[in-house]
Amino acid sequence: MGCPKALVDSERIMTQLRSEGYDLVGSYHDADLVIVNTCGFLNEAVAESVEAIEEAMRENGKVIVTGCLGAKRHLDGTPYLTDVCPGVVGITGPGEFQKVYDLVHSALPAPHSPWLDLVPKAGLKLTPSHYAYLKISEGCNHHCTFCIIPQLRGKLESRPVAEIMREARLLKESGVKELMVISQDTSAYGMDKRYGIDFTEDGRAVQMRILDLCKELGELGIWVRLHYMYPYAHVDRVVELMAEGKILPYLDVPFQHAHPRVLKAMKRPAAAEETLKRIQTWRKICPELTIRSTFIAGFPGETEDEFQYLLDFLKEAQLDRVGCFAYSPIEGAAANELPGALPDEVREERRDRFMQVQSEISAARLAKKIGTIQTVIIDEPEDEDGVAIGRTMADAPEIDGIIYVTTDAHLKPGDMVRVKVTANEEYDLVGRHIEV
Ligand code: SF4
Repeated sequence: MGCPKALVDSERIMTQLRSEGYDLVGSYHDADLVIVNTCGFLNEAVAESVEAIEEAMRENGKVIVTGCLGAKRHLDGTPYLTDVCPGVVGITGPGEFQKVYDLVHSALPAPHSPWLDLVPKAGLKLTPSHYAYLKISEGCNHHCTFCIIPQLRGKLESRPVAEIMREARLLKESGVKELMVISQDTSAYGMDKRYGIDFTEDGRAVQMRILDLCKELGELGIWVRLHYMYPYAHVDRVVELMAEGKILPYLDVPFQHAHPRVLKAMKRPAAAEETLKRIQTWRKICPELTIRSTFIAGFPGETEDEFQYLLDFLKEAQLDRVGCFAYSPIEGAAANELPGALPDEVREERRDRFMQVQSEISAARLAKKIGTIQTVIIDEPEDEDGVAIGRTMADAPEIDGIIYVTTDAHLKPGDMVRVKVTANEEYDLVGRHIEV
C-alpha cells in the first residue's frame, strides 16, 4: 500500500522470498501466509491499511505486517498496531527486510530446493515491465511539520552508487525503458555520506551527489525521470544535464506552498529560496523543462491573503503539472499543535479554488503543444478503435496526464513512437502516430 517507495520495498521482499523458493500466489485461499506492506502517512491510508490487515486476518489468519504503519507509535510510545491488530504473526517497520524474512522463516520454513532461476535478474516488479522505480535513498533529515515520514523511516541513508547502478542496469537489461528515481529528498542524495566517493562496478570513482549519479544514469540510454527534488541552487546543474538530453527534462519539486510565513511554519527544506527566480533560471537553462509539483491548501494558520499569495504564485509560475491536497492532520505531526486550524470546508474550498486555477493553466500549456511532434512511450496497446495510450516525456506514470494515440500500427507497452499532437483536454493530449 502507499507510495512508490513502499512498492519498491514490496518488490524487494518478493524477490528475496521467491529466490528462497517461496511461491507467490494471487489469493488468500491459496496462500500459507500473507504479508501486508502498510502505509501510515495520511489518516485515510492508516484506515485502509488496518482494513487490509483485518481482511487478511479474516480470510487467511497468518499475517505479517510491515511498512510505515508498523513503525507508528501512539503518543505514549506504544506501537500503534499491537492493540489494533491482535493475533498477527509479527509487526515490522519500513525497510526492516531481515525482520520480515526472519518472521517468514519461522512461520513458514523455506522450501528445500529454491527455484533460483525463476527470479529475473532485476528482481520481481510490481510495475509494468517497461518502467520501474529506482530508490536511491531511504529516510529524510528534514522536519516538515505536516509529515511523520522521518519518524517512520528514519534519517537519510543513501545507497551506494555501485548498488544503484547495478540495479538500474539489470532493470534496463530486463526491458525497462523508463526509470523513475525516487527517495524522500532526491536532491539530498549523498549528504549523509558527506558527498564522499564511491566506486562503480568497473572501478571508476563517482562522487555521491545527485548530479554525478544522474550523469551515470544518463549513460544508460533510457528515460530517467527525477522525483522529489527540492529547489536548491545545485539543482541548476542537474537541469543542465536535462538540457543536454542526458536525462528527461522533468522535475518533480514538491513546493507545498509559496508564502514565506507558511513555508516557515511548515519547516520546508529550501523555504528561504526564491522559488520563482529558480524556476525562471531552470527554464532559461532548459526551455523544454516540465515542472511538476504538489501543494497543501488550508495549512493551520493560513490566512485568506496567504492563500491568495499562493494562487498568485501559481499563476506566475505556470507549472505544468500540479496536485493539491487539502491539509489533513496526521496523528503525530507537529503541525497539529499549530494555532489556527481551519475547518474542513475551508480547506476543501481552497483546494478546489487552487485546482480551478491550475486546470486553466494546465489546459493552456497543453494547448501550446498542438502541432508539435512528441516522443511517446506506449502504456496500453490500441483498442478496437485504433487508439493506444501513452505518455510524453512530460508525463510520469500514475500521477500526470496521458496522450491518446490514434494509430494504424500494432503498438505494445514500452514502444517508443513519434506522435503529432492534434488536440488537448484539461490534463491530457490527443495525437496521431506518425512514421519517422
Ligand atoms: S522532506 Fe519533509 S515532507 Fe518530505 S519526507 Fe522529509 S519531512 Fe517529510
